Amino acid sequence: MTNIHLKALENANKIVIKIGSSLLIDVKTGTLKQVWLDALSADVNALIKLGKQVVIVSSGAIGLGRAQAGFAKGKLKLEQSQASAAIGQIALARAYENAFKPFNIQAAQILLSLEDSENRKRYLNATNTINTLTSLGFVPIINENDTIATSEIRFGDNDRLAARVASMIDADMLLLLSDIDGLYTDNPQKNTNAEHIAVIKTISEQILSTAGSSGSDYGTGGMVTKLLAAQISTSSGCPMIIADGRANNPINAILNGAKFSIFLSQNSINSSRKKWLNSTLDPKGSLTIDKGAANALLNGKSLLSAGVAAIKGKFDNGDTLAILNLDGQVIAHGLTNYDSKDANRIIGKKSHEIADILGYAGRKNIIHRNNLVLINKNSGK
Ligand code: GLU
Repeated sequence: MTNIHLKALENANKIVIKIGSSLLIDVKTGTLKQVWLDALSADVNALIKLGKQVVIVSSGAIGLGRAQAGFAKGKLKLEQSQASAAIGQIALARAYENAFKPFNIQAAQILLSLEDSENRKRYLNATNTINTLTSLGFVPIINENDTIATSEIRFGDNDRLAARVASMIDADMLLLLSDIDGLYTDNPQKNTNAEHIAVIKTISEQILSTAGSSGSDYGTGGMVTKLLAAQISTSSGCPMIIADGRANNPINAILNGAKFSIFLSQNSINSSRKKWLNSTLDPKGSLTIDKGAANALLNGKSLLSAGVAAIKGKFDNGDTLAILNLDGQVIAHGLTNYDSKDANRIIGKKSHEIADILGYAGRKNIIHRNNLVLINKNSGK
């Protein structure tokens, strides 16, 4: 592994780590691999000591719960896996809480459903909750809300959930700890000539065809869902690593030269979120901004309340707004952090005045740069 790609992990400030069921649970007994989890906690502690924010997306609820429920091996019915998740999730959260204790790391549980990432308002809320927790020094432990999601409205695998979370919180690294050390040209268990692919610049048709079906029975992922996760993550500007997590202290091993595959990030303007915003036909209102704010936007900055000169329309937090320059030209679309009532009270005011005016600690910007897409790059000049 070349140094430059390891640096991407070493330099990352916000890391989402996805932990697969097969790493965490002993397949034979259906019990937690305590020694492995203790060692992983030491790795997480080392990352935190380096000043990094860590978010964990952990599978294992169904695996832990099914053993406790006494379900036989093999495929579970939907209601059986949902009951297993309910039983296992509480054990899973407790396991992290206990394993983190010796390091004084505090865990916080978040259960997400597909709608939380697809609906813009819920997306913003989930993002803010996760960011609040990490900025307070907590380590969010995220899983899908398996107990209520039906098959049509669920992620179904934590690879893609982890990628959505990485994109949601603007992470700069997604680390998938798996039972394989990366992507191969073919299934290495079946083909001894299969070659490891260390760096994937673009997820081409050829790359997609290298993925076989799921490797282990315990999790639902396989290389297919990992490549889908890579597409979500890298198109949102976050690189993704697949590494072997089976031995103790897997993150320490990676930092000391263990093999992995890295999918490089793509230009973030190609992200589906920005495409969605770009193609919005029906903004719920508009913000007219001054020249300074227009220039800031063109330079990739967020929109602060101080730069807003006028507001039109009645809108809610999470709605799409058109952003106009002083000549009335639409220069951007963005998702607002404030409804029209609160936005009207804070326009022209400095960010540090927001809490006093509104009576609650609102967000620093009216529209975050990640939720903003420029429509005509020249019109603000
Ligand atoms: N959410 C599932 C669980 O916690 C796992 C999904 C997956 O294997 O990716 O059991």
